[in-house]
Amino acid sequence: MSESRHAPRAALAPGALIAVVGGGTMGSGVAQVAASAGFQVIVQDIAPEVLNRSRRRIDDDLARRVERGRTDAALAGAVRARLSWTETLDDLRAADVIIEAVPEDLRLKQDLFRRLDALCAQAVILASNTSSLSISAIAAATRRPDRVVGMHFFNPAPVMALVEVIRGVRTSEETADATIALARILGKTPVQVREAPGFVVNRVARPFSTEAVRILAEGGAPVQTIDRVMREAGGYRMGPLELIDLIGLDVNLAVSNAIYEAFFYDPRYQPHPLQQRMVDAGLLGRKSGRGFYDYSSGASRPTPLGGLTSDVLLPTPVVLESGEGVAANAAWDAHGPVVVFGEPHLADDLVHTLRAAGIVARRASAAIEARDAVVAIDAGLVPREDRASAVAALDAHLAPDALLLVSTLTTSVTEAARHARHPDRVVGFATLPPLSERSLIEIQAGLRTVRDAAVRAAGFWRRAGKAVAHTADGVAGVFPRIQAMLCHEAIVALAAGIASAEEIDTAMRLGVNYPQGPIERAERVGLGVILAVVQALQVEHGDPRYRPVPLLRRWVAAGGRQHA
Ligand code: NAD
Repeated sequence: MSESRHAPRAALAPGALIAVVGGGTMGSGVAQVAASAGFQVIVQDIAPEVLNRSRRRIDDDLARRVERGRTDAALAGAVRARLSWTETLDDLRAADVIIEAVPEDLRLKQDLFRRLDALCAQAVILASNTSSLSISAIAAATRRPDRVVGMHFFNPAPVMALVEVIRGVRTSEETADATIALARILGKTPVQVREAPGFVVNRVARPFSTEAVRILAEGGAPVQTIDRVMREAGGYRMGPLELIDLIGLDVNLAVSNAIYEAFFYDPRYQPHPLQQRMVDAGLLGRKSGRGFYDYSSGASRPTPLGGLTSDVLLPTPVVLESGEGVAANAAWDAHGPVVVFGEPHLADDLVHTLRAAGIVARRASAAIEARDAVVAIDAGLVPREDRASAVAALDAHLAPDALLLVSTLTTSVTEAARHARHPDRVVGFATLPPLSERSLIEIQAGLRTVRDAAVRAAGFWRRAGKAVAHTADGVAGVFPRIQAMLCHEAIVALAAGIASAEEIDTAMRLGVNYPQGPIERAERVGLGVILAVVQALQVEHGDPRYRPVPLLRRWVAAGGRQHA
């Protein structure tokens, strides 16, 4: 049969019949959304107890909405009257569209789609709520692959605004358009996605968890520091490790593994063995009482992961984690100018922030200008060989008791200080511009940094109005490293044509509540900064995980995305 002879039914409007297959968590939520938008809805499930539970859940949720004044009793009653439940697949024969939400099993879904294909009129669109399976593979079980589409709702469906509309290889444009229109009528914000592992949200969000676990395993920072830094420096609602605990380490790992396998083991998506070991040990997160944190005693505290993570890098914590500790041991009382070196836009950003905090600061370009400084800051993005010479030159001109602070976006502190005569006073800092948007800065001590210098550096940043967290020496610390990899993955997905930049940003804001879309954020931080960090991580780790995508290089070469 030709794929074009049966165009999907024109615009599905309220009053039409939507059938939902699978009345579990997602099916039930989607049914409620559809009935609330004015559609007739029939929910089918093989398990009678599930149907009862679905009915109760929707009733309870509607009652709560009435109680809270979000809807009135008559409207809730009308929604309720549009819903029906059945165990019999044949009852879906008259549906105008089918949305499937059975368990994530390709065989099961293919079998179901084969039966739905035989049952429903040719024009009916068959949509799957799969979060990871191939729409093309599901569609291949039917005689209407052009009318099979992904409709990926997020949990809880009545609350989450995003729907990823996924086009399989053979999904027609008409089907995609009709599905997008349907998502809008359901009150959702659809983004159109070309089929690829993890679609947009699960794929672009991967580095948030995989990079965080990697940093933890390497001894880059303790559990609670990683989470705090991402919340305070990045503006994320939850840190990555507490989020994995909430999702479940096993569930999160299964998603990561599925995407890693689907990309034929591209190291970009490789999860860290630490997470597998924790899953093996039964540390699954909140649901098992213990994951990265231990929830057994009411207040959560980090789980001791003795033997599982490295601590060779972690110097003695010279700065206590709590704000009070830092205040107690690090008051800043030096008088004299702060002199800032580096690319003009980065140096200006810093100078501006310091002046706003009442600190005398100026930008400079020749090392000799550091002569009268109490603090010299090298905020530059140069590769590590050049950085070491630049830092050595600054060190040579600085007064004996002055502090030398170096950005670690492109090199570790220890390597930046390798040619300095006084590596003991060199302290790293990791942050991303613009500084006005960062309430926290990471400070890093090199292997030769002395405790007193790190304590003074903490005092200095606090005087500049920033909270500080102590992370281990290494390129890009915690926040810049995770954030750069997130921004980078969004650009990798864009380069592959998965979705537009605007859709990727929308998907990440609505699907996982990011404070800013990753591409928007990359531009705000500076595309050159993101590229420099990714390149430096590749040099630091020698891992193709960090290979920069050519599109980003071209954007940087062209002076921005709009010129490319
Ligand atoms: P669930 O286990 O809560 O519900 C699945 C339901 O399908 C069960 O009630 C089960 O009885 C029923 N079922 C099994 N075989 C069936 C069949 N042959 N015919 C009819 N019903 C059948 O699962 P869920 O969390 O609702 O997930 C459903 C789908 O949605 C999966 O593909 C999942 O990947 C996807 N998804 C889940 C989430 C989430 O957070 N839970 C989010 C987005 C997408």
